[in-house]
Amino acid sequence: LQDKLNKAIKTLKGQGRITEINVAATIKEVRRALTDADVNYKVAKDITDRIRDKALDRKVLISVEPGQLFVKIVQEELTELMGGEAQGINIKGDPAVMLIAGLQGSGKTTFSGKLAAYLKKQGRTVLLVAADIYRPAAIDQLKVLGEQVGVEVYSEPDNKNAVEIALNGIAQARKTGKKVVIVDTAGRLAIDEVMMQEIEDLKRAISPSETLFVVDSMTGQDAVNTAKTFNERLNFDGVVLTKLDGDARGGAALSIKTVVNKPIKFISTGEKMEALDVFYPDRMASRILGMGDVISLVERAQQAFDEDESKRISAKMRKNQFDFDDFLSQLQQIKKMGNVKDLLGMIPGMGKMIKDLDIDNDSFKPIEAIISSMTPIERSRPELIDGSRKKRIAAGSGTSIQQVNNLLKQFDEMRKMMKKMNTMQSSGKLNKMVR
Ligand code: GDP
Ligand code: MG
Repeated sequence: LQDKLNKAIKTLKGQGRITEINVAATIKEVRRALTDADVNYKVAKDITDRIRDKALDRKVLISVEPGQLFVKIVQEELTELMGGEAQGINIKGDPAVMLIAGLQGSGKTTFSGKLAAYLKKQGRTVLLVAADIYRPAAIDQLKVLGEQVGVEVYSEPDNKNAVEIALNGIAQARKTGKKVVIVDTAGRLAIDEVMMQEIEDLKRAISPSETLFVVDSMTGQDAVNTAKTFNERLNFDGVVLTKLDGDARGGAALSIKTVVNKPIKFISTGEKMEALDVFYPDRMASRILGMGDVISLVERAQQAFDEDESKRISAKMRKNQFDFDDFLSQLQQIKKMGNVKDLLGMIPGMGKMIKDLDIDNDSFKPIEAIISSMTPIERSRPELIDGSRKKRIAAGSGTSIQQVNNLLKQFDEMRKMMKKMNTMQSSGKLNKMVR
């Protein structure tokens, strides 16, 4: 997923290559990257529609770094999709019971140890329960981890009934005043009915306040299918993504959240007991986009644009000094970025003008030619352009006097519109209108 997204965004992001930007095409690529990663088509479409709207809303294309701003918007949408805020776990009951489920090798036992350490650090008393009845080594593994983190482990090596062991463990916790019980369970290499029934029975018997589904983030699309099956049977409360220290860059997080609509609560990033992090959707979005701390750079770039370039141009508009030179430079910037019509619509007064036009980049050629044939004084004071000047400009640009007239008329309308907007803005009407 992230490779495809990166590829899609590369043109936008590429420093100095902003000239070849085409937002519409990029949106399409992002959408394809998402659907290829098995994000439901409708969801992918919704996300990309929102990304496009936001991009237009925030004037991405006339910003100095459209690519970076665009990336930022994609990042925000992915964050939203993955749940927005970090979600904590539910610790209720006396003792509070946590049920840990998932396939064999997904990292349940490792995570159980980590969770115990995490909760202990919060000042809670914890009991680990070894309810993996199939592999004798599993009990030893949990014992070793328990010792490492200084948490007691309850086990019954000769009992082959997971429900009994779990219930006895909870009773033991109550007796010894432990506030949280973590029940580590058995998994199979693939989903099977016996395991599903067992974990379902276990859940019913011990009524956990939190059922966590542990999944190996390296398993790709399988991770999504496993999550789906477990959720149908268990209706779990949250997801733990493991092995994110490897090559996996988090695409699974996006897909799983989309498919089962349950929050991802923790990520596991190594075999050491400290390698556990609360899941932050925004950080994962960055990771998926392969951006790291680029985001803060983007923010700065955005600020820089807001404060310098846009101030300069809007100041000129405000003083009704917007002239043909500004118009030309905006046109040239816009033209390079594709999506011309949407873009022009963002210039005050333009939307109305271009509403019915069929515009592509070639549409600008005569306009550019006309402006190029103007003298500097004509550009800044178009009202000086009289009949003989029009004739000269038309001849110089290879256009007709009619075309020159049209442009002058349109430009004049545009300026009037800007003037009107300035009046509205100073009376406070504009803000309401744009927001
Ligand atoms: P279980 O069968 O679900 O209980 O899985 P285990 O907890 O026994 O983990 C299976 C293997 O994955 C072990 O070798 C763990 O050390 C390893 N493992 C678990 N979590 C992580 C992780 O976040 N990163 C890495 N690199 N290895 C992990
Ligand atoms: Mg295990």
